[in-house]
Amino acid sequence: MFNLNGKVAVITGGNGGIGLGMARGLAKAGALVVIAGRNADKSRESAHELRKEGCKADAIEADVTDEGEVQRLIDETSTRHARLDILVNNAGTTVRKRPQELELHEWRYVMDTNLTSAFMCSKAAYPMLKREGGKVINIGSMMSLFGAPYASAYGASKGGIVQLTRSLATAWAADNIQCNAVLPGWIDTELTQGAREQVAGLYERVLARTPAGRWGEPADLAGLAVFLASSASDFVTGTAIPVDGGFSIA
Ligand code: NDP
Repeated sequence: MFNLNGKVAVITGGNGGIGLGMARGLAKAGALVVIAGRNADKSRESAHELRKEGCKADAIEADVTDEGEVQRLIDETSTRHARLDILVNNAGTTVRKRPQELELHEWRYVMDTNLTSAFMCSKAAYPMLKREGGKVINIGSMMSLFGAPYASAYGASKGGIVQLTRSLATAWAADNIQCNAVLPGWIDTELTQGAREQVAGLYERVLARTPAGRWGEPADLAGLAVFLASSASDFVTGTAIPVDGGFSIA
């Protein structure tokens, strides 16, 4: 039921953090994973690392804010691996400023990276995903649920991801494509290391509020990614599932 042998998955931003955690999970379940990111060296190294662990992995350089590069990513995946079954829209970024200080180009940069990219990748992947049925996994956040003073663009993009997921799910259910969102809690990655440096006391506050009593690790996302990528979730679509150690219910 959770076997992904023979499946091909594209993971945007798969060269580190949560993306690599999910890529590793999918690869260990048997999928060939295509790691996509702007930093070609980092993506190649991550794919190499996975192959050393006995997994099937490839890397393709792509900036997911650029429509042409998104199409090239999908076309290149098709040329190299002949299929695409699973798309993980994980690439993300933030600019931590109060709304009154956020520049329009910063707003656009965050929206393009986190939300518009997911639309463009999903649209480009659709013809391949529908061939034999497929899976789209979009990465939201606790900011899909909560507000935060330094996260106006980030929160808008992550709220949008949940609504985009629901729209894709309704549009493509008849094609046997399931689309779901994952809402990670506070996970220890480069992104949150930046936040910890900027926001005094963040580490302790998250710890105190999280019932599980710890920060998450990228590996914590692997299980749900495998579930949502596998036939085990064939009747699950349009959901937004937190992976947060209980942060959102405390
Ligand atoms: P990282 O900063 O570790 O990873 C971000 C990834 O996105 C990198 O692999 C980066 O690769 C890629 N990326 C950024 N911009 C682009 C772009 N324009 N084109 C292609 N790839 C891009 O962060 P996380 O692992 O923490 O974050 C991953 C996702 O999880 C994001 O969507 C984030 O919002 C979300 N998230 C994270 C949480 C956390 O606590 N860490 C909590 C909730 C959600 P490269 O630089 O090579 O392009």
